[in-house]
Amino acid sequence: MAILVTGGAGYIGSHTVLYLNGLGEEVIVLDSLKKGHREAVRNAAFYQGELKDGDLLNEIFTTHQIDAVIHFAADSLVGESVEQPLQYYENNVIGTYHLVKKMVEHQVKKIVFSSTAAVYGNPVNVPIKEEDPTVPTNPYGETKLAIEKMLKWADDAYGLKSVCLRYFNAAGADLEGRIGEDHTPESHLIPIILQIALGQREQVSIFGNDYPTPDGSCVRDYIHVMDLADAHYLALKRLRAKEESSTYNLGNGTGYSVKEVIKACLKVTGENIKAVSAPRRAGDPAILVASSEKAKKELGWIPQYHELEQIVAHAWKWHQNNPSGYNAETIIKNI
Ligand code: UDP
Repeated sequence: MAILVTGGAGYIGSHTVLYLNGLGEEVIVLDSLKKGHREAVRNAAFYQGELKDGDLLNEIFTTHQIDAVIHFAADSLVGESVEQPLQYYENNVIGTYHLVKKMVEHQVKKIVFSSTAAVYGNPVNVPIKEEDPTVPTNPYGETKLAIEKMLKWADDAYGLKSVCLRYFNAAGADLEGRIGEDHTPESHLIPIILQIALGQREQVSIFGNDYPTPDGSCVRDYIHVMDLADAHYLALKRLRAKEESSTYNLGNGTGYSVKEVIKACLKVTGENIKAVSAPRRAGDPAILVASSEKAKKELGWIPQYHELEQIVAHAWKWHQNNPSGYNAETIIKNI
């Protein structure tokens, strides 16, 4: 049976596709390529299109023997979601509605959903557990939570089984340096800092200096993208074996402040990183650190890459080899 991966040309999606390929799974990718990169997808049937394109989804579900979907396709920027909330409702909630409708029509009854720590908002406990309150502080988290709820009701009504994976901050890259993280424009902390190390950017703004954290900057839990890929595979394996819906946090369990991330990047790259204080970014909670005990216990998930410096080193390897990200020249170099 094949797995449909929506958003499989994006950062976490493409690493998961690569990982599934390595395990011998047949993978079909659907991606609009608005943000994803065609070059990031190898060894998978590829369809370019939108979730709302019912004819395309009919074609995919009738052409391939798909038993499960891993659903990444979404907008995922906290700051942008505060400025463009309707875009997030349209692309995330309505997009998923179209996908789920087609899954129900075609009797595809398993979905692994790419959710987020942003569903928690400002946590009441650190590390955060799955049963903690979900009160998002931005439309991104709000739309992901709405989808989690949609999937719960779809299970009750149609027997669609889902695993919702609430990731903390994905970072790093494929260990062999074949693919990596490339957003345009770049807004994520680690790639921004690495662009400074490459001489492509002058400085990084530290968004907020007055958070209730030890050094005043936001604390996040950085998890290696290949550990995330493994968790998707394990979630799928569990769905195939147990046909039971569930929700898991995926994080390292250790929080690093923005300033600590800058220090780690300085150490890995050996380059000076100029940082300046800037106002808080709208929608950012002060601290997001996961308890991933449930995923470890129930999925048998054992994250391999705990050290922030190791995670940054893998990202750095890809950035050094692909300073312009995915473009023709660098792809040739990589093959
Ligand atoms: N951040 C920052 N400067 C930047 C980009 C990000 O200080 O130029 C902070 C951001 O406020 C957050 C953390 O770094 O606390 C991680 O942000 P990122 O955008 O990488 O991921 P997110 O937490 O939004 O998923």
